Amino acid sequence: VYSEGTDLANDALSLEAVTKRFGDFTALASVDLHLPRGEMTCFLGPSGCGKTTLLRLIAGLEAPTSGRIRLSGQDITDQPAHKRQLGMVFQSLALFPHLSVAENVSYALRVRGHAKAERRQKAQQLLELVQMPDVADRHISQLSGGQRQRVAIARALALEPDLFLLDEPLSALDAKLREEMQVEFKLLQQRLGITTILVTHDQREAMTMADRVVVLNGGEVQQVGTPLEIYRRPANAFVADFIGTSNLIDCEVVDSHHVRAHGHTLAVAELPDGLAPGAAASVSIRPEDVRVHAPTGDGGLPDRGAGCLDGTVAFIRDVGQSVELYIDCGDLRLSSHVPPRDKPDVGQGDRVAVELPAAACRVLGP
Ligand code: ATP
Repeated sequence: VYSEGTDLANDALSLEAVTKRFGDFTALASVDLHLPRGEMTCFLGPSGCGKTTLLRLIAGLEAPTSGRIRLSGQDITDQPAHKRQLGMVFQSLALFPHLSVAENVSYALRVRGHAKAERRQKAQQLLELVQMPDVADRHISQLSGGQRQRVAIARALALEPDLFLLDEPLSALDAKLREEMQVEFKLLQQRLGITTILVTHDQREAMTMADRVVVLNGGEVQQVGTPLEIYRRPANAFVADFIGTSNLIDCEVVDSHHVRAHGHTLAVAELPDGLAPGAAASVSIRPEDVRVHAPTGDGGLPDRGAGCLDGTVAFIRDVGQSVELYIDCGDLRLSSHVPPRDKPDVGQGDRVAVELPAAACRVLGP
């Protein structure tokens, strides 16, 4: 059942052909996943793609319709949630407002009958871990949003779980605090080496925090890879479009190194398997790989061979850290992002040459 190269002993968690149906609706379709020990994995995808359902299955809050789930090699598919060694933080945090911070953090220890002094000591250790050594006796209502977040994380770590599950825990925070917490939490996770799953629809959050990203859409895994792999080598048009921004150009395959798009022939790096000449496909190229050239001294456009299109500058947006140029090449609009110092000497309405380097043109199947 295991795919080649899978090292079961090193997988903290594995899912095999996990399917979840709600009535006629398939929320997850035969998901296979292997999460290595000690890593942070992000489930990333648009609203309704099945991220939360997947997390709830792993947590035992929901049972799969079919398939198996293993934690450290042990089949836990039929094990109730409270028997699984998991720590969980949800968007709502679900802190107990009538208890102090320390009582919140050590709540699970109280349920398990640990003595008061021990609970107090452990709560203090955990609060130091999340960099809040001085708030043990405060009430939850006296804490800021970021502090509550840290309390929820400390509480979830109290039982030293094998697996840490986080469902959009930072989404209620304002943008700046959220970015700070992302970095802080990533550093904590690295320090503890705890296997973690984070559900998010925020690709920047996933790229910041994940060792490995699982991109989901429509209940199916689209791609699994490091943030950079997913960005640089998207498996399909959905991933290319969802992660970062991408120019997506409809095309027809000519041969193993060329495609035809909007009346132009483009040189491309490589074709995915199974795309024969004549097949419909699309080319994905990141805006930062698209180069725009001003006309040469005599008013002509530089000839850079296959991969260079003639166009007109439709719009230029200077957002400070980069300059975004939108170029119309016939009915095709391309975007190019360049650092301010590399901005070509062109203005709106100017004719330009747009260079699409073959190495940056990824052909994606339908
Ligand atoms: P969001 O980011 O909006 O929370 P999500 O990716 O987490 O989305 P899920 O909550 O996993 O999505 O839901 C996936 C799909 O399954 C949705 O279409 C949802 O309506 C459906 N679904 C989830 N739970 C149930 C349920 N108990 N009964 C019926 N349908 C459900």
